[in-house]
Amino acid sequence: MTLTLTVDGPRWRAHLESVAAAHPGLVPVAKGNGYGFTLGRLARKTQWLAERGHDVRTLAVGTYDELPEVARRWDGDLLVLTPWRPWVPLPEPALAPRLVHTVSRLADLRDLLHRDPSARIVLERMTSMRRHGMAARELWEAGDLLRKHPGARIEGLALHLPLGQGGHVGEVTRLVNDYVGAEIPARGTPSVWVSHLTDAELGTLRGQYGDFTFRPRIGTGLWLGERGALRVTATVLDVHPVERGDAFGYRGRTAPKSGHVLVVSGGTAHGIGLEAPTGEQSIKARAATLARGGLDAVGFVRSPYSIDGKQRLFAEPPHMQASMLFVPHGARVPEVGEDVDVRVRYTATAFDRVEITG
Ligand SMILES: *Cc1c(COP(=O)(O)O)cnc(C)c1O
Repeated sequence: MTLTLTVDGPRWRAHLESVAAAHPGLVPVAKGNGYGFTLGRLARKTQWLAERGHDVRTLAVGTYDELPEVARRWDGDLLVLTPWRPWVPLPEPALAPRLVHTVSRLADLRDLLHRDPSARIVLERMTSMRRHGMAARELWEAGDLLRKHPGARIEGLALHLPLGQGGHVGEVTRLVNDYVGAEIPARGTPSVWVSHLTDAELGTLRGQYGDFTFRPRIGTGLWLGERGALRVTATVLDVHPVERGDAFGYRGRTAPKSGHVLVVSGGTAHGIGLEAPTGEQSIKARAATLARGGLDAVGFVRSPYSIDGKQRLFAEPPHMQASMLFVPHGARVPEVGEDVDVRVRYTATAFDRVEITG
């Protein structure tokens, strides 16, 4: 009765290990819906990677509110990616030694050092993303401030780079040089915490900056990088034969031709949404479909469900926990209890169940 994510355990774990082995200093990212797996499961898997001997010391979460989900399932350091702001209460003191704050404004640095002089901090520098981060000049002022706070524990520089294969080395070089120029007092080897760099770029930068440890923050490529190990299925909950003109659904619309209305698990509560139409949607194109008598012409839209490899149309927009599909006469009609495949955005889906096999 569920929307299920089935994970081929051996294949998924082998992939996690290969990513960890290829990225020393890896910082797994567990945020939001845990990329579909839940935050708790990702924290346990991070613990498992460390216990398998991989160089994984820090787990990153997106927000302070996510810390309780992971803190007891992973015993290493915790980095919060969203920059700290003065209205964010500091977590329980027991967590402080493991916690690394991201600070992206000079005023916040001052404020945080005032509240917790021994807070562990990474300074975020603005990138071409233009999300959060200090300008070069602010970083200089941060250097001045930090030289007056010898107890401060600055762990390095954070850079959030846009997606894109390659092309980041020039920008990162410029930004790291700003950091070097700001003479931020370091404790031990400072790190550069980065996202979305290719392995080749990481290699180049490591060669260029021997005094820094580069720590790649990876979410999607780690947890979702082996799509073949993942399968999403829904259950057929009911099957109703309909004739042309029979009414169904919340809106009492009528079947345009004979076939079956299928009720399948998965709805808006799971994040199942209307698929964006992929075909040409000009009036002319629609008129052509109409002339052919296509179901999309009568207002049925593509659903993410497919049966026997064929993507099916929603009979009406998804309900909260179930959806209605229309299967025209002639196609095989699945039985109640059968599983059907669903294509989802993992980062936007709440599965009822995650089953790891093997
Ligand atoms: C989400 C996030 C990441 C990880 O991004 P993926 O594309 O999932 O690998 C890295 N850094 C920051 C700051 C993030 O918010």
